[in-house]
Amino acid sequence: MACIPRKPFLAGALREDLTAWCAKECVAKFRANQILDWIYRHDVIAPAEMKNLPLPLRNALATDFFAPGGVIADAVKSSDGTEKLLIELHDGESIEMVLIPGKEDRLTFCLSTQVGCPVGCRFCASGKNGLVRNLSSGEIIEEFLLGTQRAERHPDNVVFMGIGEGLLNFHELSKALFVLTSPEYIGMSPRRITVSTSGYVPGMLKFAELEKEYTLAISLHAADDETRAKIIPGDLRYPIAEIMAAADRYLEKAGRIFTLEYTLLAGVNDSRDAALKLARLARTHHAKVNLIPYNATDSQFKRPSRQAIAEFGKIVSDGGAHVTLRTERGSDGDAACGQLRAKSKHLPH
Ligand code: SF4
Repeated sequence: MACIPRKPFLAGALREDLTAWCAKECVAKFRANQILDWIYRHDVIAPAEMKNLPLPLRNALATDFFAPGGVIADAVKSSDGTEKLLIELHDGESIEMVLIPGKEDRLTFCLSTQVGCPVGCRFCASGKNGLVRNLSSGEIIEEFLLGTQRAERHPDNVVFMGIGEGLLNFHELSKALFVLTSPEYIGMSPRRITVSTSGYVPGMLKFAELEKEYTLAISLHAADDETRAKIIPGDLRYPIAEIMAAADRYLEKAGRIFTLEYTLLAGVNDSRDAALKLARLARTHHAKVNLIPYNATDSQFKRPSRQAIAEFGKIVSDGGAHVTLRTERGSDGDAACGQLRAKSKHLPH
């Protein structure tokens, strides 16, 4: 696996990083405040745009930091306003982020945490070619800021549901979460940030220990281990009992209920029996259920019929669980995660 780049990113820089850098450059400490202001109050990453800094300082910043390291290389907008961005990173790799407009002018960013993904869920384009590398916390914050520049505003919500298993990149993700939520930096409420996991138990336990009110979404996709093995192959799949125990730990530490994400795949996990098991699991662990009708990526799976989706939801709901159905967004714009990246890299998708 390629390494995280050593050169720091200006996006995601902390006060202490910039204070130390200013001392190294023999410039006054207040310059650090000015730089922080540009990044976190004005969403500016390029030193050339930091107009109140002297030119030599702007040049030194541009030399010592990736500022920015990535660029928006492609953008695909769907008729519902959802916009998917392909971000080309400094090393030629690429990731995707999605800007999702909602009701009452709300905006959600869906962010990636890794280049590629090692989990390899069978229905997912992002996992088809494995992991290339982790994103650094700076790259994650840069992804966010490229989104704010594009949207010309901050989002109401952030979901880490793009490319990658974020909890396998826990160290960098947790630093990025700190910058996103610290009032000194971006200042979002932790409740407005959702971290999604495929059920990577060691990462879930670390996430619980943060004791922060981030939202947790677990991509369960099956309520028994045998069915789950048909959907998520390999070593990174943990037994459901262990996943639910780690989720309970999160509930205890963060004080928040979690969501079980369930992608409905015709003939695989959409039976009446599966719905009853899912309802039982959700009820026992006080979890919400979010049903996601499968979004085809030319894989072996098919989306169930509308009627089958409705019936499945009703059984889970009648079984005592709170159920939501994810509304389809961006269906005419290479909607499924990883498809834009796959096209740009000529990867199989
Ligand atoms: S669904 Fe998520 S965890 Fe699974 S392969 Fe795709 S990116 Fe990775």
